[in-house]
Amino acid sequence: MDNILTKATWRMRKTDDCLAGQEVNASLIPTGGTSYQLYVPSGGCHNACVFCNYGFNHPVRKEEILKKVEHICRYLPANIETLILESSGSFLDDRELPLELQYQIMEIVAKTSVYRIQIETHYKTVTYEKVKKILQILKGHEVSLELGVESTNHSTLKIYNKDIDVAELYEVVGNCDTLGIETSLNVMVGAPLLTIQEQVQDTLNTVQDILRCCPESTAIVLFPVNVKDYTLLKHMYNQGRYSVISHWEFIEVLEKIPKDALDRIFISWWGNRVNEFHGKNAIIHPRSCNNCHDRLMKFYSSFVNADSLQEKQRLVEEIGEVTCQCRTAYEKEKADQKVDKDIYERLEEEKENLGKEFDL
Ligand code: SF4
Ligand SMILES: [Zn+2]
Repeated sequence: MDNILTKATWRMRKTDDCLAGQEVNASLIPTGGTSYQLYVPSGGCHNACVFCNYGFNHPVRKEEILKKVEHICRYLPANIETLILESSGSFLDDRELPLELQYQIMEIVAKTSVYRIQIETHYKTVTYEKVKKILQILKGHEVSLELGVESTNHSTLKIYNKDIDVAELYEVVGNCDTLGIETSLNVMVGAPLLTIQEQVQDTLNTVQDILRCCPESTAIVLFPVNVKDYTLLKHMYNQGRYSVISHWEFIEVLEKIPKDALDRIFISWWGNRVNEFHGKNAIIHPRSCNNCHDRLMKFYSSFVNADSLQEKQRLVEEIGEVTCQCRTAYEKEKADQKVDKDIYERLEEEKENLGKEFDL
């Protein structure tokens, strides 16, 4: 991870001291369709990705957490099909959540009738022993791991300040497949410092890389960038150096993904997620105008609930034909963007700005 990006990210996270160390308990968060997230407070991620506002350390009160998880699991919504286990970073990180607590939570979840259990974690926290144990505890459920990748492009990972080695990640994904546990990989649309065309191409290349290098069981979850409070990206946005992406950019990516791969593509955080701190909205969703907003939301929720490749193809084709003045404006903005520096020069320039602004 880069020194300046890391330090600046932690400055943003520490802006409000009330968040770090705050007492919170487990909670159930709807994530769209039949999917829900079981959030468990943890010691917080120690990485410093520029778009992420996880990483706040919360006291881990084992007994209270277990009691709350028991309660949540007893009263799960009737339509639930997928339950995602999530912490303030990586659920399988022993630094964040004691190993014993990870397994105790899984044992409670194992007793529910939820069809699919997903665990969100960094690939570096996935070990042979853990996968074996997870499969043993969650026997009878379909189990998968959700791992953050964002991009397979080296320069984009540098911009995100994302600590991953793509070859290592592929190895973990392959090993999981051999052991009988599926993975889904999170990929972002809308990296800072890239032009719109570069952002779209970066995501398409990443999708192609995953399709080529990972087992067929690997799912890809696309996220349009949401600008969250307490992130370095929010600082860049406030300084006028990052623009919130258009929904039409996200749609363009979906349209350009090979049609026969759409059954492996899922979407998340398209504008349905709430992120509140101190009772205030702390998130900026992708943008569109009021004329097409409802149509876009309808598309997203239909796509999330689509249960066949043909249905996804039909939905993407249909939304592709929608016209709107903000879509035309998006196309113009994309065509007009010009840059005269390569990506590494842009990153160096950004770090220089951050160095001055954060006095680093
Ligand atoms: S994206 Fe993942 S690895 Fe990066 S800071 Fe957030 S929780 Fe940590
Ligand atoms: Zn519009």
